[in-house]
Amino acid sequence: MMNNDPGIICFQHCLKNAKVFTFKFPDTCHFCRKDLSNTELRIPPFKVPYPFCKGNTEPNILVIKPTIGDFLNHYENSSDLHIGVTDSTGLVYEYDMNGKEKSSGQTWLQCLPIKVVENITFSQKIYWDQVLTDVFNQSQWTSEWYNQDSHNCYSFVLTFLRSLQFQELHPYLKDKTTFCEQFVLPQACIAAKYISLYRQVKTESIVIKTTS
Ligand SMILES: [Zn+2]
Repeated sequence: MMNNDPGIICFQHCLKNAKVFTFKFPDTCHFCRKDLSNTELRIPPFKVPYPFCKGNTEPNILVIKPTIGDFLNHYENSSDLHIGVTDSTGLVYEYDMNGKEKSSGQTWLQCLPIKVVENITFSQKIYWDQVLTDVFNQSQWTSEWYNQDSHNCYSFVLTFLRSLQFQELHPYLKDKTTFCEQFVLPQACIAAKYISLYRQVKTESIVIKTTS
């Protein structure tokens, strides 16, 4: 699997308001024991959308991942999140305690994509890359200057976004909190839901969710 998608599927057979989540479509129904290969399903099996991507596959976006480990296995709601920026070729630019780095994303195999500019145009992509290179080349992104609270990966990303001077982003770049509320938290919520479902299916094989 190219993007490490564990492939959770969802379907519904006889029981109304009960959705079944599992990795493998079973031969028989959990409830009525009917053979599922020749029966009608209320909801035919579909794959639950996998929210993560590989860092180097999405151009001109922000990417976030847990500072330690990966989302599916290690992330807790309180975990620190690390953030980076990709250029138009998918290279990830980031800043941490070791200083700045530009990489093809080997350490970004499972990250959350954050699109700050919808439908980015070709000329905007070229401009994005230029500004990103300029900000990356600034002398402040060294390990000596790093400070976990005041000069970190978010400082790098916010400096870059402010330097873009895109009017529509302006209200959200005031500080880290405002920025996270707008761009990071909504994505982190989607991730948290998927992670909790994944862990449940992994332990219980079949998970039933009832809706009213
Ligand atoms: Zn059934």
